[in-house]
Amino acid sequence: MTPVRPGACTGARMTDPDRDHMRVAIDIARRGAMAGEPPVGACLIKDGELIAVSHNGVIGDLDITAHAEIRVIREACRSLRRLDLTGCELVSTVEPCCMCLAASHYARISRIVYGASLADINAHTHGELMLTHEAVLAGVDPKPAIRGDVLGDECRALLHEWSGRLS
Ligand SMILES: [Zn+2]
Repeated sequence: MTPVRPGACTGARMTDPDRDHMRVAIDIARRGAMAGEPPVGACLIKDGELIAVSHNGVIGDLDITAHAEIRVIREACRSLRRLDLTGCELVSTVEPCCMCLAASHYARISRIVYGASLADINAHTHGELMLTHEAVLAGVDPKPAIRGDVLGDECRALLHEWSGRLS
């Protein structure tokens, strides 16, 4: 039997909660896309627990503000019965737009995780406000912690499939 080096992968699954949460967001984004919505999904996590999950709902809700991130923030506030989501993490398949960043700022969300970038979605929609999180949150203190490109390839593939169906 080959001796196992300290620190080597022993076959036990390396866990990355961000990737697990992103899979939840990707799954709901897929469901949204099947229902005719833009393929963006989000979930809201508190202490490792899933509080809210939603896909983009602009078409079904006939509400241009019904981005996946806005919908999970609304749902989480109602479910937790508070407006302050300090300690919560927002996970989205796409880098949140400036509207969703503003909402997450007002809700005091502590951490944001995303997959595809704003540039990735804009390559398909050509209509995004290209204000990255660095620009929107420039004067904010404290800033939420932000991690991008989590399962980015899968999130970009969703956008690509959707864009292909539209053309
Ligand atoms: Zn948005």
